Amino acid sequence: ATAVSNADIAALIADVPDFPKPGVTFKDITPLLSSPEGFAATVAALAASAPSGIDVVCGMEARGFIFGAPVALALGAAFVPVRKPGKLPREVVETTYDLEYGTETLAVHADAITPGARVLIVDDVLATGGTVAATADLVRRLGGSLVSVSVVLELAFLGPRAVLAGHGIDAVTALV
Ligand code: AMP
Repeated sequence: ATAVSNADIAALIADVPDFPKPGVTFKDITPLLSSPEGFAATVAALAASAPSGIDVVCGMEARGFIFGAPVALALGAAFVPVRKPGKLPREVVETTYDLEYGTETLAVHADAITPGARVLIVDDVLATGGTVAATADLVRRLGGSLVSVSVVLELAFLGPRAVLAGHGIDAVTALV
């Protein structure tokens, strides 16, 4: 088998101009998902960048599920879905955070993380960092220990690391 490089992975993420609104360049990961070699290499890279001893992988609805679940399996860790409000059937902890326009709420089952568990957050695109910061807040409120954050693509020019100061971040690919 031919090795898939991080540059190959980057080439499988398509730019869609002016989606979902004018001025935004949407990073479309569906070509990457359509490549079994590319998808496998991405999951392997995410898992390889994780510190040892991860107990729980948190993935955020919806594209964080796609990458987070196979990373959890690769690490032998639990997968915890972080969801939009009204989806989880049992007691939840929620957090609401600001977007450029309006707000977003994320929820997690209140018993999803054992206090002291070592947690990795996985998502597709790290943009402003607001979504990861909100998830980090949920992890902290459940008593988990956020060990690191792994993403497929970091939009470094948006400065997400300033919002996530103090947390380790690994990006398979980055745009500066
Ligand atoms: P943020 O909270 O700003 O870091 O945004 C991160 C979330 O929004 C991630 O879950 C991404 O899936 C999505 N997202 C933000 N910007 C983009 C973009 N330019 N292309 C694709 N997805 C994006």
